[in-house]
Amino acid sequence: MMKAGVKVGFFLFGGEGRSRNMELNESVRSLSGIGEKTSKILQKVEISTIRDLLYYLPRSYKDFSVCKKIRDVSFGETAFFEVRIVSQPQVKRPRYRLEITTFQVSDGTGIATVDIFNQFYIKNNIAQGNTIYIYGKLEQKFGKVRISSPELYFKRPEESFLPIYPLTAGLTQNMLRKFLREALHISEFVEPYSDGFLRKNKLFGLKEALKEVHFPKSPERAEKARARIIFDELLVFNRMLELLGEEKRSQNSRRIRIKPASVKAFVERLPFELTAAQKRVMQEIAKDFAGEQAMSRLVQGDVGSGKTVIAFFAMYCMRERGYQSILMAPTEILARQHYETAVKLFPAEEVVCLTGALTAKKKNDLCGRILDGSVKIVIGTHALLYGDISFQNLGLIITDEQHRFGVKQRAALSGGRQDVHTLIMSATPIPRTLSLVLFGHTDISIVDELPPGRKEIKTYLIHGRKYNDMIVFIKNEIFLGRQAYIVCPLIEDNEGMEAKSAKQMFDELQECYPGIRMALIHGKLKNAEKQEIMDGFSCGKLQILVSTTVIEVGINVPNATVMAVMNAERFGLAQLHQLRGRVGRGAHQSYCFLVSDNQSAHERLRVLTRSSDGFEIAEKDMQLRGTGDLLGTRQHGAGTLKVANLITDMSLLVRTRDVLEQLKKSGGREYDAVTAIAREQLGRKLIEIALN
Ligand code: ADP
Ligand code: MG
Repeated sequence: MMKAGVKVGFFLFGGEGRSRNMELNESVRSLSGIGEKTSKILQKVEISTIRDLLYYLPRSYKDFSVCKKIRDVSFGETAFFEVRIVSQPQVKRPRYRLEITTFQVSDGTGIATVDIFNQFYIKNNIAQGNTIYIYGKLEQKFGKVRISSPELYFKRPEESFLPIYPLTAGLTQNMLRKFLREALHISEFVEPYSDGFLRKNKLFGLKEALKEVHFPKSPERAEKARARIIFDELLVFNRMLELLGEEKRSQNSRRIRIKPASVKAFVERLPFELTAAQKRVMQEIAKDFAGEQAMSRLVQGDVGSGKTVIAFFAMYCMRERGYQSILMAPTEILARQHYETAVKLFPAEEVVCLTGALTAKKKNDLCGRILDGSVKIVIGTHALLYGDISFQNLGLIITDEQHRFGVKQRAALSGGRQDVHTLIMSATPIPRTLSLVLFGHTDISIVDELPPGRKEIKTYLIHGRKYNDMIVFIKNEIFLGRQAYIVCPLIEDNEGMEAKSAKQMFDELQECYPGIRMALIHGKLKNAEKQEIMDGFSCGKLQILVSTTVIEVGINVPNATVMAVMNAERFGLAQLHQLRGRVGRGAHQSYCFLVSDNQSAHERLRVLTRSSDGFEIAEKDMQLRGTGDLLGTRQHGAGTLKVANLITDMSLLVRTRDVLEQLKKSGGREYDAVTAIAREQLGRKLIEIALN
């Protein structure tokens, strides 16, 4: 009983709550009014069970409890007003299918103009002298104080606070409210925490929390309700991180010491002087190899900081002692690129590149050579994980760029051995506070220096007529012998999305730039085609590469000096920074053009024109957009977080870590519950909090 109850209590995470409130795992179709059609709509926002519904939290709340005065509200602020209509409505039809109804309102402190779009009958209800309630954003536009398309109420709404849920086509706020009301009514909740624990941590009980988050009596209570839900989530999240950390604390049976002479030999083979930061990180790795525990290290460094050579150094150390290494790249293109670097540093017969593109026969042959130990360096993509590759004596697994490989995959590769060293290279700058929590169990090295002689990439925001100047500028660069990347958010023109597609851009450029050799590359091409295009661009045969973001990670073409991003507003700052990092890799001055006619994105994009510091940009990006893109959370572990945001809920993240620590000391049912759920989470999904 206890066990089931506990699981159900944390039902955001819990498995089969078999006890009384089984209905939480039941389809939302068991609620009245939800049939096939509605359940399809709900699926679009990832609601299929009652539990999903209960945890579908409001984005924010409308506050109807106080009427604000026009005079007191600043422009840009959304508020609730009680006003008198002081003019007759005017109707305009500036365009086909556009009808604007305009009238003026006053509350004694100010006058505002209200615009209502395409509500053809509204004018019949607007009578001068009447009092109405409106909820909307106060703005200053065309020289007047305006409220555009507000919600109108002819009498004061009964509720004081109305939740605002993210919607999708066919789904309304009212539908959600109705479903939620019923779901709350029929569900029973089992509280996993003791009363003492709740009191001590100032938490709402579970039932209260879910009720108040959807139907709050006050903003404060809504906030407290949300905090309780996030608390649950983060407590388990912390425990998961902890479990991952415990897992890898195993003895190192591959203790190796690397001789100074060997290090020297490696360094002499390089075509450049190492930076101080590179040397420091290499020392850290060498020290790990000699230590008692298997290495688990994350190397963070901005794009272009020279992480690749560090990876090769680590593999070199292993090879010196007869151990094999794997380097996993997120794309075939990148794997190939690493392979080409590797054969310059190691005897070619000791290096193989395993990608999905290989024929079975070829792959078999390579696998044979891996098994008999004649191959020391294995470079590849996900393809590495499938098929049976056995190693003679694997010593090191490196994953390069992005955290797409998880614990599970790594375990698969190492045949479950815990004593294989692991190294992760990431250009994703994660603020220090956050990385301490997330990767508290992993050592972190930071490459905080760029190779010398790098010129700053001149970055410009391009809008309006400047676009044509840019087109001319790029042409000039090409005539000077340089190359350019043009990145678009979409492959093809898409329903309703107003963004330039790569195909469209390609056609346009072919017209503007007759005689210039260019190619179009995107994720839907076959691997061999992609490879051919990338090779063509690498060797300079192609001068312009029009692409989607397939080039985002790791590509290295030093002669490319232009990165132009169309509809830049569609990308996160951190992502744009990564894209920008594709240029500025050679001796020539490089340029990045962020093309955006979207005014409201300009402020955000200007961060990039002013800063080239990946960490600073990442912090700004997170403040502006949340963590989603930055950590690539949807792809790995943090994706288990449905409610919490690692940045905005940072203080709670730290607090729950401390709470967990206390729970561990005192033992008790909460700790067991959290552990059970965390384990289940780790086991059930392919958790990829890879950075452990
Ligand atoms: P990233 O950290 O983004 O993976 P790379 O390892 O791809 O960066 O390095 C970017 C470029 O800088 C490569 O062309 C590499 O050869 C070069 N490079 C790396 N280290 C140095 C150095 N110490 N001096 C000069 N060039 C370097
Ligand atoms: Mg790299």
